[in-house]
Amino acid sequence: MASLVGKVALVTGASRGIGRACARALAKAGARVALSCVRHREQARQAARRIQDDGGEAHVLSFDVGCKKEVDEGIRSLEQHWGRVDILVNNAGIVIDGLCVRVSESDWQRVLQVNLSGAFFCAQACVSGMMKRRWGRIINISSVVAEMGNGGQTAYAAAKAGLLGLTKSLALELAPRGITVNAVTPGYIDTDMTAALPQEAKQRILARVPLGRMGRAEDVAQAVAFLAGEEASYITGHTLAVNGGLHRA
Ligand code: NDP
Repeated sequence: MASLVGKVALVTGASRGIGRACARALAKAGARVALSCVRHREQARQAARRIQDDGGEAHVLSFDVGCKKEVDEGIRSLEQHWGRVDILVNNAGIVIDGLCVRVSESDWQRVLQVNLSGAFFCAQACVSGMMKRRWGRIINISSVVAEMGNGGQTAYAAAKAGLLGLTKSLALELAPRGITVNAVTPGYIDTDMTAALPQEAKQRILARVPLGRMGRAEDVAQAVAFLAGEEASYITGHTLAVNGGLHRA
């Protein structure tokens, strides 16, 4: 597949995990890829170098998706660098787990700010150019817990469910301008985010996954690359589950 030649993609949270795999998959499909991070700049640089070693074009940006001012400046600098953003993958995310009664107001706000407001700010900063060019792809990385809920993750699940509403509304708003907006809901994927789970919890989760394994970041990246491509031009407002059968909507 090399259908993204000439396109510029921005993947937020691409220093590691799912975002890094998405950046590689989009670069492999021919896109020039900007990898954003917030703390692990060296890891993002390494990921970019790997893409360049494979013959692709990559650029590193650092901004907090939860801060509108930083998002606007970061995306403006990318538009100056490569002239455009055609594909936005809203992948940056955090989890702060805790039972409802113990979640602090600041943790609640931060989880919503990064996972939900961050996607909105990035979309807002990218859509004008996409609308002018009458082509665009926005792909929001939500989660299986948006659809099935998860005790101890009220803020995270609420933010990820909010992303699905954002996806559907934005899809309606932008369809007349040739821009598709879709969501991907990963199940349990083997990354830093899930590495902290106790072995026992991992085994409990695995027992519920019909395909019998944790997902790989590349499993999610393939779905993202498909939605970004010309092959998916008639798909919008859709939620694509990549969860090994853990949950069927
Ligand atoms: P990781 O924790 O491995 O990576 C998170 C990425 O997000 C990093 O690149 C990090 O940058 C970036 N990030 C975090 N906070 C911010 C911020 N405020 N501004 C900009 N970037 C930020 O996560 P995964 O790869 O596991 O997850 C990626 C996405 O997929 C997330 O949205 C997550 O919620 C979702 N997801 C993951 C699942 C899983 O099982 N792993 C399941 C379902 C959904 P830096 O390295 O610089 O800190």
